[in-house]
Amino acid sequence: MNIKLKLLSLLFASGALVAAQDLRIWAIDVEGGKSTLYVSPSGESMLIDTGYAGNNERDSKRIVAAAAAAGIKRIDYLVITHYHGDHAGGVPQLAARVPIGKIFDHGDSFEKSNQKTQAVFQPFAALREKYPHATLHPGDTVPIKGLTVEVVAGAGDAIRTPLSGAGQANPLCSTYEALKPDPGENAHSLAMIITFGKLRIADLGDLYWNQEHDLACPVNKVGVVDLYMTTHHGTATSGSPQMVHALHPKVAIMNNGADKGGSIKALKTIHSSSGLQDLWQLHFSNEGGKEYNTSEAFIANPSEENDGGYAIEVTARKDGTFTVRNDRNRYEKTY
Ligand SMILES: [Zn+2]
Repeated sequence: MNIKLKLLSLLFASGALVAAQDLRIWAIDVEGGKSTLYVSPSGESMLIDTGYAGNNERDSKRIVAAAAAAGIKRIDYLVITHYHGDHAGGVPQLAARVPIGKIFDHGDSFEKSNQKTQAVFQPFAALREKYPHATLHPGDTVPIKGLTVEVVAGAGDAIRTPLSGAGQANPLCSTYEALKPDPGENAHSLAMIITFGKLRIADLGDLYWNQEHDLACPVNKVGVVDLYMTTHHGTATSGSPQMVHALHPKVAIMNNGADKGGSIKALKTIHSSSGLQDLWQLHFSNEGGKEYNTSEAFIANPSEENDGGYAIEVTARKDGTFTVRNDRNRYEKTY
């Protein structure tokens, strides 16, 4: 590649130098829901969840803004982890705005008698019939070029054998205490480990405490990661020490709202994870207060009065290094 082409292949994004061979991630603020955009250097994209419906199409607009910032015109792979309104609610509004290549999910709804869930699931189920779509099972992959996306849990099942390089003993398993079983959607959430060169990311959707145990014990079946996209918004019924400490992340990004997720229990677990350098949050957690929230520079939306809907961006390189950036204050840090 000549020097001119090489320069052209570099994009300047508000100070951060982004190369065409980098993976880019947007943890989009959907106010306590989940929507995370992965854009591979191949140009292909994967969106995990779509946030909520309603709110004057707030969440689909924010996803479209992130896609525009990424320079993509379509979502190649839409992965819906489960059928709660904060994850699948926004699908019809998004589909009206952006072409979608293929839809993946965990299969049928596990909350058949829950009207609130059915109000989300039924429109989604009707919509997915109009697209190429498939059910993902543990052991499957999402075929986005340039990334390896391995499904490690879904519909209540987990991988039986450890991923390549995983299978380490987990000394915390002896202190594990199960919670009351969850028959609903969270226990059946899709969970994924994403690999890009030397970089590993855990994105486990809203996987429930007891199902995390199936991945973390008696041995750690998923291995260690660099980046942990916090499970279930930092709710107290996910993010067990057995799982989080086994993941041993350098950085965690929490998709919490001011009063959704961001529990003291989950925050404590993350802060006490050895090897953790920083926690980034989409919102200041009211429950966490001064003591448990991360420093304000690392919070995209610290104030409810002035909520700008800012995202947290990640630019990752194949050598395993990555830069996290707060879209509000442009504060960034490389790991
Ligand atoms: Zn959720």
